[in-house]
Order: sequence, then C-alpha cells, then structure tokens
Amino acid sequence: MKRVVILGAGESGAGAAILAQEKGFDVFVSDMGAIKPEYQALLNEHHICFESGQHSTESILNADEVIKSPGIPLTAPLIQQLQQQGTPIISEIEFAARYTKAKMICITGSNGKTTTTSLIYDMLVRAGLNVGLAGNIGNSLALQVAHEQHDYYVIELSSFQLDNMYDFRADIAILLNITPDHLDRYDFQFQNYVNAKFRITQNQTPQQAFIYWSEDPVIDREIARIQPKATLYPFGANSHNMAYTDGKNMIVSAYQEVEPLQIGIDELSLHGKHNQLNSMAASLAAQILHIHNDVIRESLKQFAGVEHRLQYVATIKGVRYINDSKATNVNSCWYALESMTTPTVLILGGKDKGNDYSEIDALVKEKCHTLVFMGLHNEKLHEHFDNFGLTIYDTHTLHDAVMACYEAAHEGDTVLLSPCCASFDLFTSYEDRGEQFMAAVKAL
Ligand code: ADP
Repeated sequence: MKRVVILGAGESGAGAAILAQEKGFDVFVSDMGAIKPEYQALLNEHHICFESGQHSTESILNADEVIKSPGIPLTAPLIQQLQQQGTPIISEIEFAARYTKAKMICITGSNGKTTTTSLIYDMLVRAGLNVGLAGNIGNSLALQVAHEQHDYYVIELSSFQLDNMYDFRADIAILLNITPDHLDRYDFQFQNYVNAKFRITQNQTPQQAFIYWSEDPVIDREIARIQPKATLYPFGANSHNMAYTDGKNMIVSAYQEVEPLQIGIDELSLHGKHNQLNSMAASLAAQILHIHNDVIRESLKQFAGVEHRLQYVATIKGVRYINDSKATNVNSCWYALESMTTPTVLILGGKDKGNDYSEIDALVKEKCHTLVFMGLHNEKLHEHFDNFGLTIYDTHTLHDAVMACYEAAHEGDTVLLSPCCASFDLFTSYEDRGEQFMAAVKAL
C-alpha cells in the first residue's frame, strides 16, 4: 500500500489526510507544533494516525509521497532530507486536484486574492453553479473533494501553495499583481517569488485562460519572457485590454460574441482603484464561464465585501470608521488611502516587516491630517512621519488609539485603520485586531 505522509495538520493537512485515507493510502500525519483540538478530533474520527509536537523522522522518511503544509519552508531540515532522497513533495491542492474533474478557477497575486476569490465565488453562486470555495479561505479543497461534489472550485493560491504544484492545471488562472512580499522564504531573491507566482500558468494550453493585470511592470516583463501558452485576458486602464476603466465606467468583453458588460464605477459595491482591478479580473472570469452579464452586474453592485478589507464599521458624530486591518503591508495601505474621499485620520503601526513607508508619503500628505501610531514600537514611524507637520498621537493600545481618533476627527472625516504592519505585537492576528477595533468603535 502506498504511504502518504502529511506534514502540518491545519485546514489543508487535515483535509488531505481524510482524502488520502478515503483513497486507500496508508496515511500518517505529523506536525511539529500543537495540532488544534478540532483537527485532532477530525483525524481521530477518521482513525488516522498522527503525531503532534514532533516529527518522528523514521515514520516520515519512508513515505512514498509527502503532502506539505504551505507554512513549512522548503529550507526546513526534514524537507531537505526528503528532497535529497528523492521523495516527491506536493501541496494539498496538487493532491486534491487529482481526484476531481471540476473546473478550477485559481487566483494569486501579492494583494487582492481573498477579495477577488470571494467576488468570483459570489458571481458563480448567483449564477446557480455548483461551486466550492477553497485555498486560503474556507474548507480545504481536499476535504471538499472527499465529501462534496462540486463542478467548479474557486481557489485562492498563495505563492507557498504554488511552490509544490507540478501537474496541476488551472482552467482559469488569475494573477492580480506582484510586489515584493515573503522574501524571507525566497532567499531574499524577488525573482524566486515571481517564479512561484507564475507557476499558476504552468501546464496551461490555449484551451485555458490566463487573466492578468497588464499594467503591472513585473507581470508585463515576465509574460514577454515566459510567453504563457494559455489564451490571454489582460485587464487595466487602457482600452486595449479585455476589461478596462475609462474613468467613469468599467467595460468587460472577454470574447466577441457577447455584448460587452458596462457598469458605472460608482455602482461597484467595492470602492477604490484596487477594487476596480479586482472587479475587472472577477468579471472576466465570470464571462469566460458564460455567466450572463446581468448576473455579473448584480454581483458587482451587491457583493458585501470581505471582512477587515476596507470594511465599513459605523458613522459616529458624522465620522466614518473603516476597518482595513488586513492591510499588513505598505502597498495595501497605499490603495486604502487612495480610495479615501474625505479628510482622514489614519491608524498605523504594529509589527514592521522591514517596511519602506515612503511609498505612502504623497497620499499621507494629501489625505491625512492626523496619524495615530499604534504599536509596541513606534520609533520607526516617528522617525519617518514626525516632520510631515501632521498631528501625531503615540499609542500602545487599541483603546488609546481609538480614543485619539475620536478626539482628532471632525464631522465629515474618515478614521481608517490600515496599519501597514502585521498585528502580532499587540494582537493574535489581523482578524483579532480588526474585531477589537470594530468593538471599540461601536462602544464609543
Ligand atoms: P490578499 O488575500 O492577497 O492578502 P485581500 O483581498 O485580503 O488580499 O486584501 C488585502 C489588502 O490589500 C486590502 O486591505 C486592500 O487594501 C489591499 N488590496 C486589495 N486588492 C488589491 C489590489 N488589487 N492591489 C493592491 N492592493 C489591494
């Protein structure tokens, strides 16, 4: 019996174990950290052998194939050992895809993945298709392949998931943008990260679609170099693209036989330039799947958005409060600020990942009258922004930060939490930060 070892028992690992067990493999799950009780219960329920808090090398090195969690770096000693002895190491998505004939719509990029994935899913659901949502969101693909039979999957793929995908083929691949991120996992070589992102096009032929932002300089350069085989569907500001914006409207025309979709930018439920790009990518995918323009339009108008991404919280004394806690890098804060239409009080700070704040200088000067620093260590923020001539508050708790905003904001302003930083200094996650912010605002 073929032995499959699963390293890492989070959502993807637990799902992969259940699918592997159902397909008749000898399955063993190993996690160096503590496996969450709900996943332990799931594994026990399926009588799957596992170990938590250790890797027993001898029970792992005898695998015929290893399914690795995207959280484990390729440089981990055990992974190196497996590679040296020639054991195939694949991702959960690669494994699960072997057991379904469903159409795969896959989304990657440095920013905007969750938003675009959720929007496409919304369109497919509204169109009445039998669709599953997978990847970084929701239940693992493997678990859904094991227990549900969907005709379509909309899958959010990180570069780490793409790293261990080989034979997988996306029917529709979407690449939103590429800006430096996670370089610590890619030998600090940006090109390694770029290469990982472009794996989303591997194995595609002209029968498959590749949707991409044509004005991203990195994507543009790589397309010229790699020449993907898929049929290309570029989107951007220029009218040569298959989806574009003319300042007032968004026009989408994936193929000639169908009437172009036209919708006013102010009609889109998601605001900001970045969300126009996400909306174009999603609409192209839906048109390629022959979803009617009326359904796409309805989704674009009514989609409720994703939590912690430019999420409206409340209006208090004429001040709008927005939760963009997911803005964990400077580029996403840039897009959040860009979408602000009123004077803004910006909360930023947290765990700095080597940020270069100069990217948001111009927008901070144009849109903000007050900056509220919220972190354990605000020194770098002071060094960068103190000489901008804005009102600055130095806070170290969420409560103090929200009180500072309440004091500084005038009627008609927006208070924006878009911190540019990870949350781990004061919070357990960006969700925790966003939820605490919303609770504090609602208690004002
Ligand atoms: P991801 O899943 O890639 O992290 P999200 O959809 O969760 O992306 O959005 C994360 C943050 O990135 C949001 O707070 C938003 O401000 C910003 N963002 C969303 N879409 C884009 C885009 N297309 N380009 C740049 N930034 C974006």
